[in-house]
Formats: sequence, structure tokens, C-alpha cells
Amino acid sequence: MRLRTRAGLGAVAAGVVTVLLGGTAGAAPAAGAPGVGDSYYPGAGNGGYDVSHYDIRLTYQPTTDQLSGTTTILATTTQELSSFNLDFGLKVNSVRVNNAPAKFANDPEDPSELVVTPARPLAARQPITVVVNYADTPSKVVIDGVTAWKKTPDGALAVDEPQSAEWWYPSNDHPTDKATFDVSVEVPDNVSALSNGTLVRKTKNRAGWTRWNWRSTQPQATYLTSLEVGAFEIFQSTTPNGQPFITAYDPSLGEAVPAAKASIERTPEVNEFLATRFGPYPFEAQGGVASNGLSFALENQTRPVYGRGFWRSGTNTSVVAHENAHQWFGDSVAVGSWSDIWLNEGFATYAEYLWSEHEGEGTADELAEYTYDSYPADSPFWQVVVANPGADKQFDGAVYDRGALAVHALRKAVGDEAFFTILKTWQARKKGGTARIPEFIALAEKISGKPLFELFQTWIYAKGKPSVSPNGQPAAAARTASGPPVAPKSYPAIQLTHAELAAHHRH
Ligand SMILES: [Zn+2]
Repeated sequence: MRLRTRAGLGAVAAGVVTVLLGGTAGAAPAAGAPGVGDSYYPGAGNGGYDVSHYDIRLTYQPTTDQLSGTTTILATTTQELSSFNLDFGLKVNSVRVNNAPAKFANDPEDPSELVVTPARPLAARQPITVVVNYADTPSKVVIDGVTAWKKTPDGALAVDEPQSAEWWYPSNDHPTDKATFDVSVEVPDNVSALSNGTLVRKTKNRAGWTRWNWRSTQPQATYLTSLEVGAFEIFQSTTPNGQPFITAYDPSLGEAVPAAKASIERTPEVNEFLATRFGPYPFEAQGGVASNGLSFALENQTRPVYGRGFWRSGTNTSVVAHENAHQWFGDSVAVGSWSDIWLNEGFATYAEYLWSEHEGEGTADELAEYTYDSYPADSPFWQVVVANPGADKQFDGAVYDRGALAVHALRKAVGDEAFFTILKTWQARKKGGTARIPEFIALAEKISGKPLFELFQTWIYAKGKPSVSPNGQPAAAARTASGPPVAPKSYPAIQLTHAELAAHHRH
């Protein structure tokens, strides 16, 4: 989405400022940049301010797909601003900045950029309050050929990656600007409105409607903030460690509902296990939503959303392990740039190996060996550069599978003790923030005391099939003694999970 480069415009705006206020060190109000400089999505996020909190207060009518209300943004300016952008695709009624009405207009070259011009320029390093009032039909809003809002027969889903916020709330839409959230959505009584974090309360302000009030108190990326409206069957309980555990099931999943429940209801157990490998679970709530309205799954913070395909062959705890591993790798520690996607998908996929090993359905050694042998050397699979796959291959199967092989190669090279110390230290140091791949490599080298340049070069920076597997075995074709490889028990579920996850992103 928004692949057009906007760097030229930003440079012009930055060049104009210098002479206006001679004597004040070159500082003068300028337009905030229309992107944060992500090489894959130049229009993603914005410059000039840093958001600390979103208060999203909406009403949604499923029968008409009408979404209306107000989002209040608490931010701090990082420069003097004559104007700034919000990433937003819906029709806006009004914008106020620090209580004064502000001018606003969509950038004609990129209608998902809402340019806000406050009545007076904003000083640098000051808190600001931005109130955006809006109403629209999100399913009719197309941005760069995509509608991330998913209308369902009885509701809608705001669930997508790398962007979904533009279809339901204005934001600084890049993982580098995390914030806390209050999400309050009023819907007709016959449906529910789910989001992230804790369900603070349900309120009734008028007959026939219920307002669902959700709160996320930990830093949360915009794309991981979600809304699911529908006639869900909802379960509310408390995990053994005292956290709220809310799950929801779409009855239209039919005969798949029991398999979905038998998988997702085990989330606290899965997270308990993952905590033994990655360190403490990073958030204040847990859960999951099984919907018939999407074909993939996404690691929405505290409450992943699962599409219809995962339960086709019965229970699938692999995908539950994958999405909940993202609570550590992807959510608590988010990508610093979208090119760092290996830090999310390589580790979430590797968590499937760890869970399989824990469940006695195939060891990580076996899964890595079988995966390595499954792709012949001339397969396009080996032509994806996992550490920088490109926007068009960001969610390629290789980012998942070769990404997990790279993690296993690290484990074999440094040994279990150093390996799990690396993962836990990484999580503790980066909790709530963002990270880049070279930072992970530096930490792995420091903790293990081993030079790892060549290993990462081989597994994530280079194309081509490595000459030996992560376990040090030559490719299967070169082996004669052991015969053809046998798939570990968990392999079909893991492959189904990856096929479903990758298929969605090949639009
Ligand atoms: Zn994933």
C-alpha cells in the first residue's frame, strides 16, 4: 500500500524553512513529513509528532456499514509544525487541534494522507490534543487498490497487516509510533464489538445499543489494534496467573467451531509454555477471536484473530503457538522497519517447532531437517532474502520457513543455554519497543561469544540453499543411508498454518 515515494515533497518542505526566523537556529514551523521513511511503505506513518494515546469512540451499524464517531489523539510535537499528516481514509467532518478548529484536506496524490493545518503553528516538544470527527462506509474505501476493512454478514473486521487503521481511525500508522489505546464502540445489542486488552465495561446509553469499552495499557502498534464486530459466542474467564481471558467464536464457522475452541481455549497453556522459552508474557490480557470473515490469522495484541481455514482438519494449536509467540516477537518487540519482518515471522514460526517438541509431535531438529529437505535447491523458495525480502515478498513462505531454519541454525551453533538466554535477554531489553535485525545479531554474538556473521549471511542475507541443514546435515538427495525423510507428526498442521498465512498476502 502507498508504494509511491513521497521523499521529494518532504525535501522541498524542509528546504523552505530556514530564513523565516533568522536568529533562532534555523527553526521555524514546517510541514511534518508524510511518512516515517520506511523503505517498503514510504507513506506509512508521519513525521513531526509522537503519539502517546488514542481514544477511539465510535458507533457502528452492521446493516449499513456506517461507522461514525471521534478519535482523540494525545501526542507530542517533535518539531515546530505548520501542518502535519494523519494516515486516514474515511470522510472527516471536523478536526480540532488544542481545541481550536483546524483546516484539513486529503492529499490529492495520496487520499489516505489527511493533512491537518492548525489555526496557529505548533511549537516543538509540546503536548497536543487532536480530535477528529468522522463518518463513512469503510467497506467502500479503497486505498491503493486495497480495502482492509472486511464486511461480514453480521458485522465487520478491522484486521490486517501491514495496514488496517486507515479504515477506522486516524493515526500515525507505523510500528515505530506505539501508543496506549481506549477503544469504545457502540453496536446494536444483537452483536458484540471486540478489541484488544481488557474489557473495562459495557454500557447502555440508548435502547437497542450496547457500548463496548476496551483498554490497552501497554504500548501497542496501530496495525495490531483491531476491531471485530459480529454475533460472536463469547467466553470470559481468568487465566491461572490472574489475567482476563476473553475469546469469541463466530457461529457461522459451523462444524469448525469445536476445533477452533479446542485450540484457542488452550491459549493460556500455550503462553505459559512460551514464557518458559521467551520470558514473562508481556501483556495484561489474553484471548482469541475465531472469525469466518477472513482467510488468514493476525497477532492482534493480547487477542489474535484467526480465519476460517485453520480448523479444516481439526484442532490446530500450531497457529495458536504462532500468533501468541508474536505477542513477544512482533507485538512487544515490533519491527523497526517493515524490512525486519524476519524478527516477527522467523521466531513465531520457530515457536511452532518449540510447541511441537513440547507436545511430543516432532522435535525442532526433525522439523528443521524435514523443512530443509522439502525444498529442492532449484526451488524459488531459496531465492527470497529473508532479512530484506522486499515489500512484494514480505509475507512469502520463505520468510516463515527459511526464517525458522535460521533461528534453528543459531540454536545449533550456540547451544540451548546461550540460545534461550539470547531470546529472553532480547525480550527483556526491547520490551514495548521496536528493533532492527542487526541489533539481534549483535546481541546473539555478545551473549554466545561466537562470531555469527557467516551464519546469518548464509541463512538470512544470502540467496540459495545452504549446503548443509541447520543440523549440519547435507541435503537429503546426497544421503543414502537414512532413506527418504519422514514428516514429523506436527508438520501437516504447521504447513497448513503457513499456507493459510502466506496465501492471504499474495493478493
Ligand atoms: Zn506470523
